[in-house]
Amino acid sequence: MYDGDIASVLITEQQIKDKVAELAKQVDEDNQQGGDLLLVGVLKGAVMFMTDFARALPQPAQLEFMAVSSYGSSTSSSGVVRILKDLDRDIAGKNVVIVEDIIDSGLTLSWLLKNLASRNPASLEVCTLLRKPDAVQVDVPVRYVGFDIPNEFVVGYGLDYAERYRDLPYIGTLDPKVYTSGV
Ligand code: 5GP
Ligand code: MG
Ligand code: MG
Repeated sequence: MYDGDIASVLITEQQIKDKVAELAKQVDEDNQQGGDLLLVGVLKGAVMFMTDFARALPQPAQLEFMAVSSYGSSTSSSGVVRILKDLDRDIAGKNVVIVEDIIDSGLTLSWLLKNLASRNPASLEVCTLLRKPDAVQVDVPVRYVGFDIPNEFVVGYGLDYAERYRDLPYIGTLDPKVYTSGV
């Protein structure tokens, strides 16, 4: 699949699987006081993580999705966010966990946290599979982090380049030829 496009595998399928189980266990342990757990997945990048995470979670959770568009180039965001698809239901009084694929500048997440906090959930936490170094510069409280990765553009397991590679079961970097061949 995608022969020759992937320069290196950064995180293997097995490493992802183990980490998802570990994160799900943590979230479960932190939510033993009862109350409904509601996962908010951010489309489309978080889809693979969200579905695996929900199945690894020992306790029931509702699944909700949001789609947002951040103005900016395809590889960086500006922090100006527009809602393309909002949640289908009210999150007031729920224990909400935002499930994210990756935090880079943190601008998208920072906006999302403010937006969801204004809807009065009982609690609001963030669980991201990946985090890049720049994320530490923005003051966003992220309770659950899968992997801290170098400042490289990655694809796979939900993450795309020009809508491709989301279906790879692992996370890798792209061969530079992909960026220049105009796919
Ligand atoms: P932030 O607002 O944190 O800078 O941007 C987060 C969003 O930018 C992610 O949800 C993702 O869509 C995109 N993004 C940031 N870094 C990468 C990356 O390395 N690979 C891919 N495919 N998308 C990225
Ligand atoms: Mg995302
Ligand atoms: Mg993308």
